[in-house]
Order: sequence, then C-alpha cells, then structure tokens
Amino acid sequence: MLDALRIGEGEDPRLAERETRSRLGLGKKKEGYAALEELKDRIRVLQARLHGAGEQSVLLILQGMDASGKDSMIRRVFKGINPQGVIVHPFGRPDDGELARDYLWRIHRNVPRRGTIGVFNRSHYEDVGVVRVKQLVPDEVWQRRYRHIREFERMLADEGTAVRKLWLHISYEEQRARLQRRIDDPERNWKFEFEDIDARRDWPLYQAAYEEAIRETSTAHAPWFVIPADRRWARDVAVAEILVEALEQLDPQLPAADPRLAGVTIP
Ligand code: ATP
Repeated sequence: MLDALRIGEGEDPRLAERETRSRLGLGKKKEGYAALEELKDRIRVLQARLHGAGEQSVLLILQGMDASGKDSMIRRVFKGINPQGVIVHPFGRPDDGELARDYLWRIHRNVPRRGTIGVFNRSHYEDVGVVRVKQLVPDEVWQRRYRHIREFERMLADEGTAVRKLWLHISYEEQRARLQRRIDDPERNWKFEFEDIDARRDWPLYQAAYEEAIRETSTAHAPWFVIPADRRWARDVAVAEILVEALEQLDPQLPAADPRLAGVTIP
C-alpha cells in the first residue's frame, strides 16, 4: 500500500490526480480501526526498542492545507503510545528570534533526540510553501532552499534519523466542509481564523508550491508520501504504516545483556 503513496526521487506528485478519499483497500471504517490498533501494537514494541537502543530516531514531518487533519491525526495515531518517547513540535509563524537566524535554525534545534520519535506539525517546508505563496522573500531565496533542505535531510539520515515527510491530501470540498464546521460548532470556533479563507483562495498556488517542493525534495532516504486524508481513519492507518515501516527499517537492536547478569537474583 505504501508504494502507491510514496513519491520517488524527482517524481512529479501530480496532486490534482491523486485520490483524497481512498480507503486504501481496507473496506470499511471498522476494518480500518482494527488495522490501526494492530499497527499501534507494533509501534509500541518498536518504540521501546528504539528507546532501549538509544542510537537512532524517527522524524515525521507533516504538511497539509488548513483543516487537513494534522492535529487530529497526531492525537489519534499517538494515543496510547508511550508519551516519553514522542515529541511533537508545532511550527507557527517564526518569532523575532527565529527570524533573526537562518530558517533551518529553529528546525534543527528541535530534531528528535536519539531513541525518540519526533513529529513536526508544519516544518521548514513552510519556508518554500507559505513563504513562496505570500512572497515573503525574493524568488531566488526560496528557490535555493530546495538544495539546503535536501542536504540537511541527507545529513539527518546519515546521522541516524529516519526522515519521512507526509502531505495530508484533502480535497477542496472537504476543506470547505471542515472550515464550515469550525464556524458552525461553538466547540470548534477557536480553531477558525479569517486567514484560512485567504489561504483557501490561494489553494491552486499552495498546491503548485507543494507539488514542486515534493518533487524537488523527495529522496530515497527522506521520501515524501501523499496521504489520502478526506477519510480520517484511512489517513491514520497510512501514517501508522509509514511509521512502522520506518522503525522496522531502522531495526533498533537492544544492547547485549551484561554477562554478569546470568543467574543474578535480587536479594
Ligand atoms: P494549524 O497548523 O492547524 O493551522 P495553528 O493555526 O494553531 O495550527 P499556528 O501556531 O497559528 O498554528 O501557526 C500556523 C501558521 O504559521 C500557518 O498559517 C503557517 O503557514 C504559519 N507559518 C509556519 N511557518 C512559517 C514560516 N516559516 N513563515 C511564515 N509563516 C509560517
């Protein structure tokens, strides 16, 4: 299933042609939830080994349009996973201190420690996404960032971090419905920002910017995946699968038992 979602090196993701409502061949919602629980059992085991080995880490980078479900996916996929082993870092608009440095400074200082899983809710891809669409820097400045990003992620991978980048792909209609719910449901009002309407107007510009960013930065060691995200359960299963695959590929090995332990009984 993952092969269909993974974007190869140099491949054009053609977002407009990709499914947003796929069931990933899983049938009904109920089967999706069962699959998710099985994957989470594997994540728990692998996470404990990752921590025990303490040598490698996983970094999941999440991007998507407003209301694509980044927050809800994090809540649902990581619920029940040892919270000590997962660090979620949201990247909002850079503050003065961050703007006074290069754009990767705040990113690099938040990468996961060895033995942990890091989740970036937005990331340095904003620096070739919203920054490009809103023309916050001249074109040549964001254009050269693809090269920086490729090299930065190469370095992370070389040093033991499995980098996986996920575009939560929703349809224009699904975004409309979700934003409308934020207006209609008092419990969700706080999530609504008038700026979301501006960003929605720029939908084609964002899609084009991410299409290019994904094409320019998907590599074998730090691949992009386009996740059909209109159905929450299918989205969650896909993300959990990607995490399991990344952990299995790292294959963390627990340190060998101290030979002096043989036959020791605690008095
Ligand atoms: P959500 O991610 O669900 O929209 P939020 O609105 O609660 O969450 P905020 O902390 O307000 O999150 O930050 C998200 C906003 O910050 C987005 O509009 C995003 O485009 C913007 N942002 C993130 N990184 C940058 C950047 N490098 N330059 C400019 N804007 C950025």
